[in-house]
Amino acid sequence: MMKSATSCLLLFCAALTSAKVAAAPTTHMGCLDAVAQGHRTLRLESMATAPATAPQSTHPWPFPPLSIGHTSASYQNYSGEPYFHHGLDVRGAAGTPILAAVGGRVTNIENYIPGVSAYWEIAVLDDEGYLWQYHHVEKASIPADVWNSWRNGGRVETGAKLGEIFRWGNSSYGERYDHLHLNVIAAGGTFMSPFLFLENLPDNAAPAIMAAGVLQNGRALDEGGHDEVVGPYSLYATIHDLILHDKYVVPPHRIEIAIDGGASELVWDFQTLPGKTNINIDVEDFFVPAMTCGDYTCRQLTIDLGFVPSGRHGNSPTEQGEKSTLRGFPTTPGQHNAVITAWDFAGNSVSKMIEWTVIKPS
Ligand SMILES: [Zn+2]
Repeated sequence: MMKSATSCLLLFCAALTSAKVAAAPTTHMGCLDAVAQGHRTLRLESMATAPATAPQSTHPWPFPPLSIGHTSASYQNYSGEPYFHHGLDVRGAAGTPILAAVGGRVTNIENYIPGVSAYWEIAVLDDEGYLWQYHHVEKASIPADVWNSWRNGGRVETGAKLGEIFRWGNSSYGERYDHLHLNVIAAGGTFMSPFLFLENLPDNAAPAIMAAGVLQNGRALDEGGHDEVVGPYSLYATIHDLILHDKYVVPPHRIEIAIDGGASELVWDFQTLPGKTNINIDVEDFFVPAMTCGDYTCRQLTIDLGFVPSGRHGNSPTEQGEKSTLRGFPTTPGQHNAVITAWDFAGNSVSKMIEWTVIKPS
């Protein structure tokens, strides 16, 4: 599913990342490409030392969030190269001060897409060893003492002003998309859900299962509400969550499935990305590409419930049409059912049972 020249570059980056290149990330420039109009962090991160598990403490938000525009699980596809969003878009008005959620050493100030003023990063390595990347900081607003800390290997303390939110150039669903993009990175470059590190939000809205059924050849098998299937198949669910907003649909944080009354099986929990350091791997296996979109004007999130991370079964990325999963769905002729449950990070959940019939091949 990754065939273009840019994809090859990205895979090259992924290989370097997984090899844990210890040297300064001087090779990352070649990985930057023109598709970065959404959000894309392609720098090789080797600074974080904390394990990819829950942190010791939670921290205040950099500012009071107006809403969450995207989570780390969000599907993004601005120009044909889909990826997991890998951080949080914390919505706030342009000019809002961004305060350090946690103190630490200032490890980077950089225009990480050179010449594009939206893409300024300030990075802070906290005392537990997690690397915090604050993106879309207005350059002119970065205080002199933060610059000095970076130049001198110094620190900022919790609550220190890092800068202000950049005035974003695009609108999405009728609102100018001003926001802070926040990544939290653990050892080896693993992208963590920043929710794990931050105080709870007043989010009481459960995810919604918009549609669910049998998936065959990458498409929904719609047979009037009760699917009859012959041959290999998977199941899908279109699941939409909202966090302090009424339009900015995001994926659930955790999904489980229980088949024919059996024990629940984990599809995925986004404490980390399934590809850990790699934002591209697995995105077109977790989401159903033909039933998913994610850009400024389109959000639909359909999940393949047969998903198993490629790293877990050691497959290299498969060619399109050859996707295989380890999760087995029943092949015995007759009626079957599954209960799908999805949670947001706040713990709100939704469940839905679907039924289908396996037909014996004639
Ligand atoms: Zn973002």
